[in-house]
Amino acid sequence: MIQNPFKEAIPVLELIEEAGFEAYFVGGSVRDHLLGRSIADVDIATSALPEEMKRIFPKTADVGIEHGTILVHHGGNHYEVTTFRSEADYTDFRRPDSVSFIRSLKEDLQRRDFTMNAMAMDKDGQIIDPFAGKEAIDRKMIVTVGNPDERFGEDALRMLRAVRFQSQLSFSIEQQTYESLAANSHLLNNIAVERKLVEFEKLMMGPARVEAIQLLANSGMSQFLPGLKRKNGHLMSFSSHVTSELELAELWVLLLFDLGLSGKEIDSFLREWKLPVQKIKRYIQIHSWLLYRMENDWDLKSIYKAGLDKAISAEKVFGTLHALVNNPEGLIKLFDMLPIKNRQQLVVSGNDVMAWMDKQPGPWLRVTLDEIEQAVIYGKVPNEKEKIKEWLNASNQKSGKN
Ligand code: ATP
Ligand code: MG
Repeated sequence: MIQNPFKEAIPVLELIEEAGFEAYFVGGSVRDHLLGRSIADVDIATSALPEEMKRIFPKTADVGIEHGTILVHHGGNHYEVTTFRSEADYTDFRRPDSVSFIRSLKEDLQRRDFTMNAMAMDKDGQIIDPFAGKEAIDRKMIVTVGNPDERFGEDALRMLRAVRFQSQLSFSIEQQTYESLAANSHLLNNIAVERKLVEFEKLMMGPARVEAIQLLANSGMSQFLPGLKRKNGHLMSFSSHVTSELELAELWVLLLFDLGLSGKEIDSFLREWKLPVQKIKRYIQIHSWLLYRMENDWDLKSIYKAGLDKAISAEKVFGTLHALVNNPEGLIKLFDMLPIKNRQQLVVSGNDVMAWMDKQPGPWLRVTLDEIEQAVIYGKVPNEKEKIKEWLNASNQKSGKN
């Protein structure tokens, strides 16, 4: 049965055909449809040129017009529609030097990376499959369209895409394709880190992630990924610790741990991957709570300082390293016991304390606030202004501070 996203897009194909051009569903959506996977968005390829498309559809946006892609708004949805194209010379193992628009579907399919991604489907659900993509899907095989050395030579990112699809679909990489990938892995040097990151993260999140990580190491590809040169042993332990429960942040933290990085090395590793600063900060924090957890159990103070989310993440990584069952219940209970969950919830401010003590600000203020915070966390004093004031007076008298 044709899935809904296709059904809704059929009028788009019809309108293009009525104007005298060809139009098909292509790429990942056709592959996933044949695999019985749910599909998110459909890609459309057409013999119409972008200018011709704009005459057919009143509402379009130029999203990648130089590559022949425009965004068509229709029936409350939008679709990426790309003119059939062949990709001319590749001189730097990256992107084609120029794009030529063509009128032939087959040539368009021929420029695509893997046979499973090189099929088209018309509006009646007929599959156009000149490169035996269907057979590859049945055999769960990732096979390049044509000679793998040539195809990886044209665009080295395809090698990482192969491993990422292996991870996402639990497919195998066909022998010749695999050998080429191992022989050409150095070409990854030509690929921008940002593009590597996208594929690497998808690969780490796929159901066959363990095999994918091992494949990166065994094929030699990891030698050409940021911070992973000569780290195959570490990558192998990483793959042995990875579980299906871990989310992206936790996988990065586990990787940091298995690489044995510390301090500044962690920061430069994550920067080398060009991760956003916010994420770097978060991963570093979770990693340091993991190190804490290797030596200590959680208590009120540590869970308060870490915050529940980071504590749970650190605990999940800790659990995976010790083959423990993930059970965040204990942490949630502990966190629930905290009278305040963060500093903002403390009812007294620095101004209150200065007024009560009739003193000018100074280092003493921070120390005192920390003491109050600690006392509230441990339930020694309720989080109420008057009570805190009394408690502060009493403890100052005891220590003879006043
Ligand atoms: P996903 O489900 O992750 O989106 P996808 O197969 O749709 O997978 P996209 O990156 O969205 O992948 O690309 C859409 C299609 O464009 C692919 O199916 C493939 O036919 C083609 N394609 C994408 N990247 C390349 C590439 N580097 N070389 C050749 N063809 C490519
Ligand atoms: Mg896609």
